[in-house]
Amino acid sequence: MTTNHTIERLPRLLAIDDSELIHKILRVRLQHEQLELHSALSGAEGLRLAKELKPEVILLDIELGDMEGFAVLQALKADEATRDIAVVFISAFSEPVDRVKGLDLGAVDFITKPFEVIELIARVRSILRLQNAMHMLAVKAQIDGLTGLWNRKYFDARLESEFAEARRHGKPLSLIMSDIDKFKSLNDGYGHPFGDLVLERFAKILSSGRVSDVACRYGGEEFGIILPSGNLGEACEVAERLRERLAGERWPRHEDLRITASFGVADLSCIAPNMFPHALVEAADKALYAAKHGGRNRVERAPSVAPPLRKSA
Ligand code: GH3
Ligand code: MG
Ligand code: MG
Ligand code: MG
Repeated sequence: MTTNHTIERLPRLLAIDDSELIHKILRVRLQHEQLELHSALSGAEGLRLAKELKPEVILLDIELGDMEGFAVLQALKADEATRDIAVVFISAFSEPVDRVKGLDLGAVDFITKPFEVIELIARVRSILRLQNAMHMLAVKAQIDGLTGLWNRKYFDARLESEFAEARRHGKPLSLIMSDIDKFKSLNDGYGHPFGDLVLERFAKILSSGRVSDVACRYGGEEFGIILPSGNLGEACEVAERLRERLAGERWPRHEDLRITASFGVADLSCIAPNMFPHALVEAADKALYAAKHGGRNRVERAPSVAPPLRKSA
């Protein structure tokens, strides 16, 4: 499983407070935490750093020199880039009305100054644990339960972002669509659990390629592999290797059984320049059906609509 979207860095904590002393205390007391601490002395600087650093947690003072902490929080919530950052108020204001106001605006916690640093650390840790759990749930929601591949929802989102990326930077992008041959009769003849086993094994084969290739279960016994930066020729070679590996697979208790799949391959040269990501799926699907009609257990490539791009000197 290649869940390559996880953040591989220390969690970031941004403290926004107009008191130098607070920053000094935090720097000393948090130095052994698995955290990256950043400091801002004003609301404006805090907002700028929040956008730039995307910290996991913000500690926010209410009385800042240039603006109120409440206004900083509102600005964070109004911006999609900073909306999900967990904000903890740290303030000498300890009236219930202030706490309620802060929490109503979307803060996750409220700590009163002067505060015990160990308590602050414990609360930050608890927020980070919760964020990790939520991140794992979000990733899990995009994984197919039977095969462990990315699911259809993820496929659609990833194809869209890779499509935009490829168009923006003039990079190649290929798609392989694959469908197991005569799978219905396999289910009928050998039973559903065996059908499931076939799906699992095929999924293993599909995810055994380069880590940059994104193997997804498109639905039922249909799979899609997105190849960022792969051109049509390379994608056809990949598909051919996958086809051979499935066809060569031996099956438990059915020594003579051979299971195959058909493949359709398309890249950006197969669709008109103004088309949407779905056109790439359609082109690969068309090629897949040509492979089915051509006798199955084969790879077909979609025809190009545009001449190949020429590299300028
Ligand atoms: P073709 O070679 O033309 O693709 O024939 P086919 O029989 O593979 O095509 P069809 O689309 O008619 O059959 C797909 C079958 O896949 C039907 C459905 O019962 C089966 N299927 C879909 N999802 C699952 C699953 O999760 N487990 C199992 N065991 N079978 C599934
Ligand atoms: Mg202050
Ligand atoms: Mg099918
Ligand atoms: Mg099929």
